[in-house]
Amino acid sequence: MKPYPIDRVSVVIPVYNEEASLPELLRRTDAACRQLGRDYEIVLIDDGSRDRSAELLQEAAEAPGSHVLAVILNRNYGQHAAIMAGFEHCSGDVVITIDADLQNPPEEIPRLVEQAALGYDVVGTVRQNRQDSALRRWPSRLINMAVQRSTGVAMSDYGCMLRAYRRGIVEAMLACRERSTFIPILANSFARHTTEIMVGHAEREHGESKYDFLRLINLMFDLVTCMTTTPLRLLSLVGGGMALAGFAFGLLLLMLRVLFGAAWAGDGVFVLFAVLFMFTGVQLVGMGLLGEYLGRVYNDVRARPRFFVERVLRGQALPGNTPASLSPVVESLAK
Ligand code: UDP
Ligand code: MG
Repeated sequence: MKPYPIDRVSVVIPVYNEEASLPELLRRTDAACRQLGRDYEIVLIDDGSRDRSAELLQEAAEAPGSHVLAVILNRNYGQHAAIMAGFEHCSGDVVITIDADLQNPPEEIPRLVEQAALGYDVVGTVRQNRQDSALRRWPSRLINMAVQRSTGVAMSDYGCMLRAYRRGIVEAMLACRERSTFIPILANSFARHTTEIMVGHAEREHGESKYDFLRLINLMFDLVTCMTTTPLRLLSLVGGGMALAGFAFGLLLLMLRVLFGAAWAGDGVFVLFAVLFMFTGVQLVGMGLLGEYLGRVYNDVRARPRFFVERVLRGQALPGNTPASLSPVVESLAK
């Protein structure tokens, strides 16, 4: 792992009805960024707030000497879409995402940048003493375990949005044209070196969580579908198992009937069960087959880049002198 030179840091913050937190957020984030000793920008995205957030952002951007870049969306698109909009407008070598509600302390930003400078592509954080209800903590623990198994990248807290991404990772994410994404997972699919640090977690001071039960469920589906199409495949596995079991049960019944006589037939009720299992199983296999097609269509439709070239190293005797450090993705975006 090589150290990564960082000249400019971008902090990307999605804002949805956060007028009460904004003044303190801006003050604390700016103070933390000043300590970096690097050029920085604070990109705030107003995700269609219905309170005065957008005006506050505009004021902050217009203040003299301000490092604020305000991106105002016309309506509410959701946290992850808003962050993507911020990615599109930021220019830092390292991009930090953080929530606007001050649950993640902005004071941790320098530590994240430090880790990124060591050469990590993605720096995640783990909430030390998470201040959310158990009802939120347990599902998120389950999800973390599932993600770890399926992406292979060991990270323990995907719900925490205080994260740092290297420029190349951000470009790769921007090259994904899909609508529903879960950014921390998408990022990890492009990352090579990742690390996690412990950070504090505070209770929400102003307002309420913007995620009600339905939106949380929706977010969970975004997360799962962003990562894998396995659930679609599971259908054929389950169906196959069921059909086989039904078939075996039928055979067993037949044998018992032949060996021990008509009493074992039980008036055909069990045979009915065996047949039912078989048919349901076959149906599920058929659905699983549809799932296989659907999974492929889905992968094609969301048109993620087929691969992500981290860098190209060219031998001196080879023709062409394109700078080796630029990946095709970055090049195509630079045009
Ligand atoms: N957010 C957003 N659009 C939305 C919902 C939330 O931009 O539709 C922002 C919100 O302003 C906050 C962050 O996403 O900065 C996280 O939201 P919240 O704190 O409500 O989520 P929780 O911490 O409860 O998971
Ligand atoms: Mg929050």
